[in-house]
Amino acid sequence: MASSNPVAEAPNIWAVAQAQFDNAAEHLALDPGLRRVLRVPKRELTVNFPVTMDDGHVEVFTGYRVQHNLSRGPAKGGIRYHQDVTLDEVRALAMWMTWKCSVVNIPYGGGKGGVIVDPKKLSQRELEGLTRRFATEISPLIGPDRDIPAPDVNTNAQTMAWIMDTFSMHHGYTIHGVVTGKPVAVGGSLGRNEATARGAVFTLRQAGTALNLPLAGARVAIEGYGNAGSIAADLLAAEGSTIIAVSDSTGGIFNTKGLDPARVSGWKREHGTVVGFPGADQLSNEELLELDCEILVPAALENQITDHNAPRIQARIVAEAANGPTTPEADQILFDRGIFVIPDILCNAGGVTVSYFEWVQDMQSFFWTEARINESLREIMDHAFESVYAMSQRHSVHMRTAAYMVAVARVAEATNLRGLYP
Ligand code: GLU
Repeated sequence: MASSNPVAEAPNIWAVAQAQFDNAAEHLALDPGLRRVLRVPKRELTVNFPVTMDDGHVEVFTGYRVQHNLSRGPAKGGIRYHQDVTLDEVRALAMWMTWKCSVVNIPYGGGKGGVIVDPKKLSQRELEGLTRRFATEISPLIGPDRDIPAPDVNTNAQTMAWIMDTFSMHHGYTIHGVVTGKPVAVGGSLGRNEATARGAVFTLRQAGTALNLPLAGARVAIEGYGNAGSIAADLLAAEGSTIIAVSDSTGGIFNTKGLDPARVSGWKREHGTVVGFPGADQLSNEELLELDCEILVPAALENQITDHNAPRIQARIVAEAANGPTTPEADQILFDRGIFVIPDILCNAGGVTVSYFEWVQDMQSFFWTEARINESLREIMDHAFESVYAMSQRHSVHMRTAAYMVAVARVAEATNLRGLYP
C-alpha cells in the first residue's frame, strides 16, 4: 500500500528500540546472556485473514501480535490499525511495553499488536468484521492471564468491546479481563480514556517543579490530536497553560493567543480534521515541532524528532505522549542542548497503568470511583518520575537512559530469579 507517512523513510524503529536497550544494558553492565534474551521478542504471530467487504468482495489483511517478555506477568499492550504497520514496528512497540510496565512497576510483561489497514477507508461494519476476525486469529495468544490487548493508534473502546465479545463467544461466557480500554458499560474503568494524557500531565507537573517551569502560563504545542493529544490539550489548558498549536495527520493550526481545546475537538468531530479551525493560522507538522514554546508534546507516531530537526527544537520540555517519537541521535542532541525529555515509557505510562486498574477491577468485579483511580494513577506516576529523575541525576544520563535503567534492571532481576528453563 502507498505510504504517506514519514515513518516509512525514517530509521528502522526496531533497530532504534534495540539500540536504546543496548545503551541501558551497557550502563547496567548487564550479563551478556541476559542481554541476548532481552533484546529479542519471545513470541511473534503473523496472521493473514479474510474479511468480507460491504460490496461483497473478500479482502485479505495482515496483522501481528508480538509478546516481548513475560517475566513479570502477562503480556500487555495495545493493538493499532494503520496502513504503515510492520512487524518491526510491532516488535519495537512490544519491547517498549515491557519497559513501560516495568518503569511504573505494574505486574506485566510487554506485547503489541497491529493490523495493516487504513481504518478511515472502512465502514463501521467492515471494521467490526476485521476486528472480530483478527481477535479470532490471535486468540491462541490472548487471554486475561496471558496477554491483554488495549487501544492504540486508530483503535478505541468500541474495538475493545468487539474483541471482548468475540473472545467471550468462543468460550461461552463473558470474560471482561481479556482486554482493557473497554467502554465502562462492559467492564471498562472510569478514567481509562483520559489516563494516557492525565499521566503525561502528572509527569509534566513533576518536570515543571524540577526545572522551575510552572505549567500555568507555559506555551504548549501538541503534535497529534487523537486520544492522547486532544485530552492532554484539555488537561493542560485546565492547568493554565496556553495551547498555541495542535495538529493531526492532515496538518496543524496555530494561534499565539491560545486555542480552546474543546472547540478544536468539536471542529475536528464535525470536519474530520483540525485544519480550517476559525481564527487560527495553518502550519505543517514539521513547523509545529520547531515552534517557540515551553512544552512540546509529540502525541502521534514514531520518528518525529530526528537528527534533522532536533537542533531546531525550541521547547524546554518534550513530553512524549506518543511511543518512539524521538530517535537516539536526536536524544543526544536534545540532551546536549539542555532540553528535558520525559521519555515515552514514563510519560505515556498512565494509559497502561489505568489499564492495570481496569484489569484488577474486572478480576474482582468491584469497581472503583474515578477519584480513587486518578489518585492511584498520580501516586504511581509521581513515584515513577522520582525514581527515573533520581537515576538520571545519580548517573548524569538523560531521562530516557535513566528510565531504561530503572525498567531493564527490574525485568533483569525477575528473569534472573526465575532462572532458565529447563
Ligand atoms: N496503547 C497504549 C500504550 O502504548 C496502552 C496499552 C495498554 O493499556 O495496555 O501504552
